Amino acid sequence: MNQIVIAIDGYSSCGKSTIAKELSKILKYKYVDTGAMYRAVTLYFIQNNIDFKNIEEVNKALDNIKITFVINKETLIQETFLNNENIENEIRVNPRVAGFVSEVSAISEVRRFLVKQQQEIGKQRGIIMDGRDIGTVVFTDAELKLFITAEPNVRAQRRFEELKDKGKGTTFEEVLANLTKRDFIDSNRADSPLFKAPDAIEIDNSKINQVEQLELIMKLVNERIGLKA
Ligand code: C5P
Repeated sequence: MNQIVIAIDGYSSCGKSTIAKELSKILKYKYVDTGAMYRAVTLYFIQNNIDFKNIEEVNKALDNIKITFVINKETLIQETFLNNENIENEIRVNPRVAGFVSEVSAISEVRRFLVKQQQEIGKQRGIIMDGRDIGTVVFTDAELKLFITAEPNVRAQRRFEELKDKGKGTTFEEVLANLTKRDFIDSNRADSPLFKAPDAIEIDNSKINQVEQLELIMKLVNERIGLKA
């Protein structure tokens, strides 16, 4: 089999991880949610009162962080572990994580620490990785690069529904404000800002459904796998 690397980048809550999980099931590729890794580091910093501005403290903290992904045997869903503790739910619903993650992600030492691990995991190809800098930094040689977008209101509404389903009391306005803030910081930071790689294919999913989107992407995947044959 000609295994490729699929890099999926884009703004917050535009459905990158949903696409990545679907592709990983169909292709039987490994899936790495890099946002979960940045969220895990942020959670560690919050729990241990790490001063983000103090690089020495940040470096010491990074030495104590081990992030792993484990498939839940019952749900078959991949979950994130921080130092052997399951933090999957916490990193998604804790508003302090969402509030600080973009600031933590702008720290070069944090990026270097995580990018190295991401490149190591993807060395064998046969991988789908989603994030903000996968096609531009982590795997510049990915065979397929996707840049997913959707209108901010559509993204905020989807995220709001998701949090509501998880029992989190929040408002649409709060969710929209957090998305807008994160997108701004992610797109304007000095190190590895979010932008569309010149060779990435842009997909706006505001007005297409998941089935249509998957069909479109599978066509591209098959083309790329065919090219490698
Ligand atoms: O994808 P998700 O929304 O979970 O990512 C959370 C945050 O992690 C993003 O807003 C961004 O600040 C950061 N991130 C990043 N680079 C990545 C993935 C995520 O900076 N590759």
